[in-house]
Amino acid sequence: MEPEAFLIDLDGVLYVGGSPVPGAIDTISYLRENDYPFRFVSNTTRKSRMTISRQLESMGFEIPASYIFTPSMAAVSYIAGKGGTEAAILTTPDVSAEMGCEGIQNREQSTKFVIVGDGGDLFNYPVLNNAFRNIIGGAELIALEKDRYWMGNDGLMLSAGPFVAALEYATGTRAVVIGKPTPEFFMLSLASMNAAPSRTVMIGDDVETDIGGAEAAGLWGILVRTGKFRQEALESAPLTPKKIISSIAELPRLLASGELCPDQ
Ligand SMILES: [Mg+2]
Repeated sequence: MEPEAFLIDLDGVLYVGGSPVPGAIDTISYLRENDYPFRFVSNTTRKSRMTISRQLESMGFEIPASYIFTPSMAAVSYIAGKGGTEAAILTTPDVSAEMGCEGIQNREQSTKFVIVGDGGDLFNYPVLNNAFRNIIGGAELIALEKDRYWMGNDGLMLSAGPFVAALEYATGTRAVVIGKPTPEFFMLSLASMNAAPSRTVMIGDDVETDIGGAEAAGLWGILVRTGKFRQEALESAPLTPKKIISSIAELPRLLASGELCPDQ
């Protein structure tokens, strides 16, 4: 059985440090020319999909914002599914404006939901204390991601996770984590292209979030040796990817030669 659709991680798979991975632009063109449906699933919570699309365009990729799935979008879907229309949103202005356009308005107090993404410099005592008061008052805590840290331009940076953990500790509650590796996030992107999980391949550079998450959702995961890939992380991971490729540039050759069968 040949794969029929693709989910692709962005950072570390299509680009690394602001530059395209060699061959990645040609791979996307190949998928488009050969009518393979594809979408992009990213755990970034600092940038809106429009901003990501523009940055990809500046690198030479033609990828519309509607092809990009981020945790904020999944959070909007989650809250709308519960009949909600507002939340206390702790993210960058870019992302909270995007959520506003999609139907979830930012409201500081008396809200049923608190959304925490990587707000960077926005995290301060009043903002966190306001979130704390909302949660103590009964609001549900939603974490767009719960990563500990990430690599910035001048060194490691705190991600959303430590702030989510602080709110969990203070309130004695557990956050609902949205985005990869949750199966709901993969299913949301699959639904947009009407693809069956068992016939979709996920390509990522994170063995646990991308590959483990994809396999838990019934997809077939392929790990690339670019981006954050580390041999030690692979060896200590709780799973072994069924296929590992040097980079996404290998994909057209594997598809053309029929070497990419999920049944293998
Ligand atoms: Mg990645």
